[in-house]
Amino acid sequence: MSLMLYNDLTRKKEPFVPLKEGEVSFYSCGPTVYDYFHIGNARPFIVFDVLRRWLEHLGYKVTFVQNFTDIDDKMIHRAHREGTTVPELAERFIAEYRKDAKALGIRPPTVAPRATENVPEIVATIQRIMDNGHAYVSSGDVYFDVRSWPKYGTLCRQGLDDLEAGARVEVGEKKRDPLDFALWKAEKPGEPAWDSPWGRGRPGWHIECSAMSSKYLGETIDIHSGGVDLVFPHHENEIAQSEAANGKPFVRYWLHNGFLLIDSEKMSKSLGNFLTARAALEKYPPLALRFFMLSAHYRSPINFAPPGWSRRPAA
Ligand SMILES: [Zn+2]
Repeated sequence: MSLMLYNDLTRKKEPFVPLKEGEVSFYSCGPTVYDYFHIGNARPFIVFDVLRRWLEHLGYKVTFVQNFTDIDDKMIHRAHREGTTVPELAERFIAEYRKDAKALGIRPPTVAPRATENVPEIVATIQRIMDNGHAYVSSGDVYFDVRSWPKYGTLCRQGLDDLEAGARVEVGEKKRDPLDFALWKAEKPGEPAWDSPWGRGRPGWHIECSAMSSKYLGETIDIHSGGVDLVFPHHENEIAQSEAANGKPFVRYWLHNGFLLIDSEKMSKSLGNFLTARAALEKYPPLALRFFMLSAHYRSPINFAPPGWSRRPAA
């Protein structure tokens, strides 16, 4: 019996047939390493670890790539607040990620690339997008020209005009259209920066995954996974970037896990129901947490509310 996977690109269950017989190229979006990961983040790490193990059990040779985002706004703000540097912060939370992942039985990826170690590949990918007429420079920033890419919105099933209604321009952004998104951000004082043909700056978040997946897995990959919250804009942007750069289909099977709720509510710091994997591991056995994550279908929401646990203070 063949493996059936629900593909978010086609919204159908399809038999899984890899591009190369006997091999699977699999990319999963990894953590931004500015803090401990929370139990909502743990869900994709666990469910896609299980899929990887199942593919191996079926006899496939799986190359599993999961990146570390080690440069972005959150990293910069946290490093400033703690009086440390971005590379030191990244080093610390990559080590903490590995401890918690190991405790939860999540195997290390085949390759775990860091954005800051792949800046030349990121710059080359942006250059190809620009050469193909889908990006432009504006005051040292580089933006993807969404209106030049008619297929934009294919994964999230929304038209450009609907997406435009919800788009906003952040302070300091100099883009032509609210839908456009940054591929490269010009250097600001006190921020890490690298050389590029457009001046010193740093990569945007979305382009990292496009550049690193094609570097380690090729221009067309079998499976790309992540949380459902990444469908738009992150994965929509990844598709536009990769296909605009390479002129080939990017991903054959898109898989997204559902949300993890706490006491039936969305986890958030402001609701006081925020729980890191580290804190959960102090309270519950790791195998119980892993079993819990696998107790619902990965695409369904799952509700974390074990007996004896409540975010509300005791009366
Ligand atoms: Zn990604």
